[in-house]
Amino acid sequence: MSNTEKKIPYKIYLSENDIPKKWYNLRADMKNKPAPLLNPGTGKPLTAEEMSGIFCEELVAQELDDKTPYIDIPQEIQDFYKMYRPAPLVRAYCLEKALGTPAKIYYKFEGNNTSGSHKLNSAIAQAYYAKKQGLKGVTTETGAGQWGTALSMACAYLGLDLKVFMVKVSYEQKPFRREVMRTYGAEVTPSPSMTTEVGKKILAEHPNTTGSLGCAISEAVEVAVTNEGYRYVLGSVLNQVLLHQSVIGLETKAALDKYGVKPDIIIGCAGGGSNLGGLIAPFMGEKLRGEADYRIIAVEPASCPSFTRGVYAYDFCDTGMICPLAKMYTLGSGFIPSANHAGGLRFHGMSTTLSQLYDDGLMEAVAVEQTDVFEAAEKFARIEGILPAPESSHAIKVAMDEALKCKETGEEKTIVFGLTGTGYFDMVAYEKFNDGEMTDYIPTDEDLAKSIATLPKVPGTND
Ligand SMILES: *Cc1c(COP(=O)(O)O)cnc(C)c1O
Repeated sequence: MSNTEKKIPYKIYLSENDIPKKWYNLRADMKNKPAPLLNPGTGKPLTAEEMSGIFCEELVAQELDDKTPYIDIPQEIQDFYKMYRPAPLVRAYCLEKALGTPAKIYYKFEGNNTSGSHKLNSAIAQAYYAKKQGLKGVTTETGAGQWGTALSMACAYLGLDLKVFMVKVSYEQKPFRREVMRTYGAEVTPSPSMTTEVGKKILAEHPNTTGSLGCAISEAVEVAVTNEGYRYVLGSVLNQVLLHQSVIGLETKAALDKYGVKPDIIIGCAGGGSNLGGLIAPFMGEKLRGEADYRIIAVEPASCPSFTRGVYAYDFCDTGMICPLAKMYTLGSGFIPSANHAGGLRFHGMSTTLSQLYDDGLMEAVAVEQTDVFEAAEKFARIEGILPAPESSHAIKVAMDEALKCKETGEEKTIVFGLTGTGYFDMVAYEKFNDGEMTDYIPTDEDLAKSIATLPKVPGTND
């Protein structure tokens, strides 16, 4: 270990003053902008007015703004961030030693708050703008439960009502998540449910379904548009969410800059793309402006492989096909991942921003199988102490693989990955893994062709 290296502590903490005061809007630096959301009825780009029936006004403005590079973070949100930020950037010395790699590994840990993940960064922002608009409350969906938990914390803090539709399989498998949300005052309904028209329709067609994010989104949107004083909020995929999550990348960059460290590889798990979009934002900005180059890798589950096996096309974000169309890497909105898939990241599509960057060859993607992911998770827990969320463990798995490649070649690459959260509520999945009962599921080409065939035929888009 060289002298300069010794100076890097196990945890690089920034001061409270270093918490970003502006979010960075990566789209401002993209030459090829992400494609606009379309009205499924007309095939035309959604206007702010059309969107404002579903989303809060200020969030609509952020969604549509692909020009302003920096957007002020309101003081109230900055104050909330101070309760749990800055998040530490950890040098994984123990992991490097255990792997015997010359690679230098860092991870940005976003699990240091009660909700246990990065989702709180956007939850507080979205709840703040809803409150500022004078709304009574918001509706949303949650899959594994992290988003619902984060939003329930934010809504409790601001005194906003919250109705959560939770994917049925998670509602049943994760009763503690559900109770945390209720403790913070949220109303939680398993989805699909008989409380909405779209839920009834889905249940009539698929009576035994364990639900999907797409179904839950349809229900939450329906409740928002049919109840006075409510709007719908979404925890991933949207550009506004990536904007809020840029605090992850901005802090990571500030911490690395403090020690003059330049990463070679940046790795993150990708469900809807918000943590990855946030982590890479300032680095990708440099790449787009030609100031630096980085290898950026999105990691997705082999059971829900939007980037690696999906198509880049306009698609619905929800199963009920009531949401706007987004141009993204997608498996088709009818895709429901196998029920044996325990590891989160179950959304059929991907952020439009990341989809465009991937299509432009500015980032890579790999798909990994869940037994390998849990093996990496367990190894990481034993070596670095933190019990990781299964989602985060996708990034751990690939970070370890890259570090082991360095061991073979002798290259001292610097690897940064996003450790998005903790896995305390995922012990049913860990139990399955520990009992040797976890299996891998990889959809066949036929399965995917079937769901991809459900892509909408909108004039001027997919034809
Ligand atoms: C929600 C979640 C993810 C995946 O969502 P993205 O929007 O792709 O970031 C990853 N890790 C954790 C811990 C999560 O809660």
